[in-house]
This record gives sequence, structure tokens and C-alpha cells, in this order.
Amino acid sequence: MKKQFKCPECGALVRESQIEMKYEIKGTEITVQNVPARVCKNGHEFVDGYTAENVNRLVD
Ligand SMILES: [Zn+2]
Repeated sequence: MKKQFKCPECGALVRESQIEMKYEIKGTEITVQNVPARVCKNGHEFVDGYTAENVNRLVD
């Protein structure tokens, strides 16, 4: 069973999507693409803590 997830900011339903996350490290901008995330119709993006951690590790 899949749990429905609502945007905590606006209450809209969100859908599974993939986004880009931008980081700046020592003045260099790094973009990580295809990060799994949930996006609401109003453009709010949410990444799981677990996913964010993996991306952070990747950037390190
Ligand atoms: Zn929203």
C-alpha cells in the first residue's frame, strides 16, 4: 500500500519526480541530477532524509 503524501507547505498532493539539487562547495557549484523527490503542483520539492544523506555523501 502506498501512502499518499501531502505537501506540508500548501497541502496539495505531491507526485514522485526527479529533481536537480545544487550545491556550492568551495565556490564551485555542483548539480546533482535525477534525485528522487516529491513535488507538489505548486512547485514545492521534498527529498527524503535518506536520499539527501546519500546525495551529501556523493558530493563529499
Ligand atoms: Zn506545496
